[in-house]
Amino acid sequence: MSSTYRSTSEAKISNSNDATAQALRGYSNSDAPSDAIYNRCVRCGLCLSSCPTYLETLTETSGPRGRISLIKSVGEGQLDLLSPGFVDQMSECLGCRACEAVCPSGVHYGQLIETARAQIVRVDPGGFWERFGRWFAFRFLFGRLRRLRAVAAMLRFYQRSGLQQFARRCGLLRLLKLERTERLAPAISSSFFVPSGQRFTVSGSRATVFLHAGCIMHIAYADVDRATVRMLNRAGFTVVVPPGQGCCGALSVHAGERDAGRALARRNIEAFERSGADLYIVNAAGCGAALKEYGEWFADDPRWAQRAAAFSAKVRDVIEVLADGQLPATDRRIEETVTYQEPCHLAHAQRIAHAPRALLRLVPGLQLVEMAESSVCCGSAGIYNLTEPEMSERLGRRKIENARATGAQIIATANPGCALQLRAMLAENGAATRVAHVIELLDEAYSS
Ligand code: SF4
Ligand code: SF4
Repeated sequence: MSSTYRSTSEAKISNSNDATAQALRGYSNSDAPSDAIYNRCVRCGLCLSSCPTYLETLTETSGPRGRISLIKSVGEGQLDLLSPGFVDQMSECLGCRACEAVCPSGVHYGQLIETARAQIVRVDPGGFWERFGRWFAFRFLFGRLRRLRAVAAMLRFYQRSGLQQFARRCGLLRLLKLERTERLAPAISSSFFVPSGQRFTVSGSRATVFLHAGCIMHIAYADVDRATVRMLNRAGFTVVVPPGQGCCGALSVHAGERDAGRALARRNIEAFERSGADLYIVNAAGCGAALKEYGEWFADDPRWAQRAAAFSAKVRDVIEVLADGQLPATDRRIEETVTYQEPCHLAHAQRIAHAPRALLRLVPGLQLVEMAESSVCCGSAGIYNLTEPEMSERLGRRKIENARATGAQIIATANPGCALQLRAMLAENGAATRVAHVIELLDEAYSS
């Protein structure tokens, strides 16, 4: 490989007329980072203090400005696509989009990082086991929810039969180097929330909404799905949960597998169109951000562009729907303190920051105390806690310290990945702080 990357802060690159430049690998035409986007960056640096990896390293290349410079350098033929500095930085970025939310030039950074990763995977898909792992996760497992449920049922048996304690105590997990992965696995729900055409009606319904049951949500946070149905009913919506829906594709697209993500997206679009529902409701921030961007995923596909854009226009996070003032008051009190951890894909990608706090303040007795750096990523970021364990743990510890400094008994959030990371980090510290979805707390306050 022509290793032309020089790890300076600005990644100053060799002259493109240089003979070595002839051998540099660049972007292929489809799904490439757009020059119209990276050229919007005026290098002002206003995004640096929002970037979690920059806050941890104080290194230019570990911040958005440096990464955009790298993406542009590959686009302009000055840096090799597979140069270690480029590949490492595309991997170290969380894709949290905090930079995008504060950028005065409107640099759509999320699109840049996702397409840059897709280009790397296309040119270097890895060895056999890496390719098999990607196929198994993104196409086989997440491609059909029933396969995911079959694996989840085995995991539930492992977690509840005593095997888990045995494996942890006997050192088997350490031997197989699976300790960390096992610790981050979600606790599987007693009963799944399977999309099978359920219809939850209310009299005088305002609208019929399609509930996205999710992939991880329906097997590990099934009670949050059920609480979401109850809260939507209380707000006057009829809720349908049609079969045919599936994973949103966010995990695939974030990992550079855009075609796998689009295959999943097509199924969700078709399921929604068949349902005749007015809105498509989601209760996981990462999924919501992806579903709202289907229009962008299919922008270059004349057969799907219009359908995808129409679909995305109907997607809402349940939090934004419930915060529109239609919920009746409740007098059930929860006498506890809560702090809110902002999921990146709710705060930065969807720009929903006020609504979750407004809903928590609706609960009588519940006292909301703000933590420092609420909007700094907790280090979960899809599969980032598996691919970049060191940075993920640093950010996880930073988040837990900020949360515990508030003295709150509950950490509220709105994304399964954040909840998993927070629980794992709290368990490591032996802390008994509860982690709950905003909708769970609201449902408790409205239950009779
Ligand atoms: S804030 Fe925007 S324009 Fe300024 S350096 Fe960051 S990405 Fe570039
Ligand atoms: S997406 Fe997040 S981690 Fe990546 S450059 Fe932007 S702020 Fe930093």
